[in-house]
Parts: sequence; structure tokens; C-alpha cells
Amino acid sequence: MQQKLEDDYRHKGLRKKLVEEIHSKGIRSDAVLDAIGKVPRHLFMETGFVNFAYKDQAFPIASGQTISQPYTVAFQTELLDIRPGDKVLEIGTGSGYQAAVLFEMGARVFTIERQRELFLKAQSFLPKLGYRPRFFYGDGYKGVPAFAPYDKILITAATDQIPPELTAQLRNGGILVAPVGGPGSQEMIRMIKHGTNDFETTRHGYFVFVPMVKGTSNHEQPHKKKKK
Ligand code: SAH
Repeated sequence: MQQKLEDDYRHKGLRKKLVEEIHSKGIRSDAVLDAIGKVPRHLFMETGFVNFAYKDQAFPIASGQTISQPYTVAFQTELLDIRPGDKVLEIGTGSGYQAAVLFEMGARVFTIERQRELFLKAQSFLPKLGYRPRFFYGDGYKGVPAFAPYDKILITAATDQIPPELTAQLRNGGILVAPVGGPGSQEMIRMIKHGTNDFETTRHGYFVFVPMVKGTSNHEQPHKKKKK
């Protein structure tokens, strides 16, 4: 179902409240708060959930995935310390909301998704709102080496460990942010790369993300054939 790309005074009012809410939860960067205040999150949600778009909560999108909670998007973005012109690689395009926030902040965004349906949807939808990241379909564990090195790398799915392929694609002085841990809860990790094997790591509390999964959805068998 195609929804209208409407962003009216009611949406803008709700968004202003959302910005106040995440500010009160501790987000201090004006650049991040401004971006959250601009991106019409309701247009990134499945139609049935539009009325919840400006609650500070995660919600289901297609392929059993979620659009992250706005506070979490803001928190990861703040840790990345985005500067206009930064080349940013995002792992896990999902709805494209986080990519839009990064784009809104003036970053050059490269985003990769392993679920074909989500990749196709985001790739056709975001440009309609004027957001033009570069979209890739593939396994984010491998990154996107063709465009490396990146100033910033953001993982938006839970991973047991930070893939060495990704830290290799980070420039010296660059920042990587990722939720690291098992299924129930992950610790937000920020790494600043000083040299090939020289990282400064800090920890920033616990979050819950959907898991990062190896390979792409093309290799999955959605329904097992029943034996006769
Ligand atoms: N950033 C998204 C939230 C994504 S939820 C948003 O703003 O909406 C995490 C996403 O990571 C899911 O869409 C999931 O399919 C994707 N993902 C999981 N493992 C991946 C991998 N190995 N490579 C790329 N994407 C992956």
C-alpha cells in the first residue's frame, strides 16, 4: 500500500515533543536533535504503526526487523560525532531512518542491508524524501571495501564481536559504534582507531538490537517443504 508523503503540522508538533523527550533523556548534540526534528519518521513505518511514529519506541518493519527507537538512533549518532562531509558506513539499513538522520546531518552515507526486501524498499523510498545515501545489498560483516576508508562506521544490529573487516575499513582517527553482545542485551561500544591495531575503546551502557546475521536473505529458505 502506498501512503501519501504527508508531513503536516500535527506530525511536526509530535516530532518537536519527541525531540524534547530525547533531550531530557540525555541527548545534548544540537546537530543530532535538529536532524531528529527534521526526519519524518512516520513515513518510515508500516502504515498500521504511523500513529506510534513519534513515541520513543522501536517498532516492527518488514522481514521481521525493527526501526530503532529514536533515542537509540540519537545516542549512536551522537557517539559518532558526525561532521558535515563525513563518509559514514551504516550496517543494517532497515527502514532507512538512521541513514536519513545521518544524511540530514550532512554526512555522505553508505548503507548496507542483508534483507533484499528492505534494501529494495529503502532504495526506492528515501530518494523520494530527498535523502540520497548509497545503498548496498549484501553482508555487512564484509563492509563495503570498494568505498573504504570511512570516517565513521555504525553497526545497527547486535554483534558478538566487531568484525575485523570493518575496523580495517575505518580510517585512522575514525570512529566505529556498535552494540556488542548476545541476544538479550548488548553493550554500546565506541572505538576510535589510532592505528592498524591501535584502538581506544569506551563503553556506553546497554541496549537491545535485532541480531546481525551472516550472509544475505537470498540464501534463506523461508518455508521448509513438508515431507509427504
Ligand atoms: N538502522 C535501521 C535499524 C535496523 S534493525 C533503521 O534505522 O531502521 C537492523 C537491521 O540490520 C535489519 O534490517 C537487519 O536485516 C540488518 N542486518 C542484520 N545483519 C546484517 C548483515 N550481516 N548485513 C547487513 N544488514 C544486516
